[in-house]
Amino acid sequence: MSKYCSICAKPMEREGDICEACQESIRAEAMGRQRKVAKESKKELEKLGIRRGKDAKPPKGSPISKQGGEEEKKPHHFKSMAEYLEHLKEKGR
Ligand SMILES: [Zn+2]
Repeated sequence: MSKYCSICAKPMEREGDICEACQESIRAEAMGRQRKVAKESKKELEKLGIRRGKDAKPPKGSPISKQGGEEEKKPHHFKSMAEYLEHLKEKGR
């Protein structure tokens, strides 16, 4: 009773659906695919990790701190207390 490989249709003596050569090639392909998938998932994880790390750090030179320093005016910057109060009112808006 002779069987034929279901992939390359060559007659084979061993039991099974496919011949040894096709088995080898399929195994190699599966291994390669698995390795590739593992590599890709690792890449994705690394990407996510790097992104998370960046987000966790506070932004350097944020405009808020710069503006705050410029806007903080003391009464002596104004000719009179009235002007200073006026400035405070403007700021409050
Ligand atoms: Zn075959």
